[in-house]
Amino acid sequence: MSHHFSIAVFEGDGIGPEITGPCQEVLEAAMNRVGGVSASFAPLAAGAKTYLTEGVALPDASVEAAAASDAILLSAMGDPTIRYPDGTELIPQIELRIRLGLYAGIRPVRTIPGVRIPLGDPRAKSIDFVLVRESTEGLFASIGKGEVSEDEARETLVITKKGTEDVVRYTLALAERRRAAGEGPGRATCVDKANVFSAFAFFRSIFDKEAEAYPDLRINHAYVDAMALDMVRRPWDLDVLVTENMFGDILSDLGAGLMGGLGFAPSADIGDDHAVFQPCHGSAPDIAGKGLANPTAMFLSGAMMLEWLGERHASEAARAAGGLVRDAVNAAFADGTLVTVDQGGEAGTRMVFDRVMDRMQTLERPAA
Ligand code: ATP
Repeated sequence: MSHHFSIAVFEGDGIGPEITGPCQEVLEAAMNRVGGVSASFAPLAAGAKTYLTEGVALPDASVEAAAASDAILLSAMGDPTIRYPDGTELIPQIELRIRLGLYAGIRPVRTIPGVRIPLGDPRAKSIDFVLVRESTEGLFASIGKGEVSEDEARETLVITKKGTEDVVRYTLALAERRRAAGEGPGRATCVDKANVFSAFAFFRSIFDKEAEAYPDLRINHAYVDAMALDMVRRPWDLDVLVTENMFGDILSDLGAGLMGGLGFAPSADIGDDHAVFQPCHGSAPDIAGKGLANPTAMFLSGAMMLEWLGERHASEAARAAGGLVRDAVNAAFADGTLVTVDQGGEAGTRMVFDRVMDRMQTLERPAA
């Protein structure tokens, strides 16, 4: 049976449009190569440019169209020179997470052989863990609600039972899936600050309760400061981690650093009914319009999207196409000669795109 998917696309701001077109081409090439799966890509308005023309950064019509699609591909939004009247930056991507109930921010940290990484230990070449960031509450629940007076500023962190149950259940199921597939040792770690804040003791108690349903997993706890240390000291021992929104925001950039930089770090924000796939990086206005952006994170986010669609719709072809994108990225970097501009090399968007497309054609066609 052949599947056709409708994909909503937010090309966004800054380097967004430069990496979105190549990503669509890579995904289409992978689907064509595998066969039995196809997609149409519908561009939607949101971001700083949209705010200038329409007065809103995330029009309702775009949210409705995105919600009606099978999956959402987003590059990067925002521009530090375009702000709301109170001086805050536009963050429509965060609003989208909240409006679509995307509670689980999935940040895989997997090194790509051939890409320069900061850790010299040989074990760092096989780092493969997943950070799950709660994405709709935590400290981010305070966005737009902060109270600032002349002498004091307050932002309130919110951890709910429902929000925590959702993200923790997702995490435990993911750890179990990785264990069953031989991709991970079956270790789930709750990352918090339960020794200091009762809100995190609450988060941890929900994690522990939900973990009782997974007798085959090893259940761990770590304080966020200790985890920051372990992510540098022994990241090869990590498997699946879950944490609060703000902690996850910070640790996911640390994870991107382990992989060689933001240009290599994909992500997904997943809820019960919708999912957004976007690179971990922002709109990089400092390099926009120069063809320098590394599109790898965007390609890998697209691969995650195809794999997610494959699982959700029982489409082996979509799963295989996602795997083919990942394999083509790995093959493109494997010999160490493709060095992106953000790693101090010469390879801009076009060169990375060309190499990935070339390798995709020469790789063995996966069976769907
Ligand atoms: P946000 O807050 O929206 O996540 P940010 O302020 O953290 O964004 P980014 O836009 O991610 O910042 O950029 C941080 C730095 O990383 C910039 O110097 C930018 O040029 C660089 N960078 C980000 N993404 C890429 C990429 N895909 N290729 C090359 N360099 C990138």
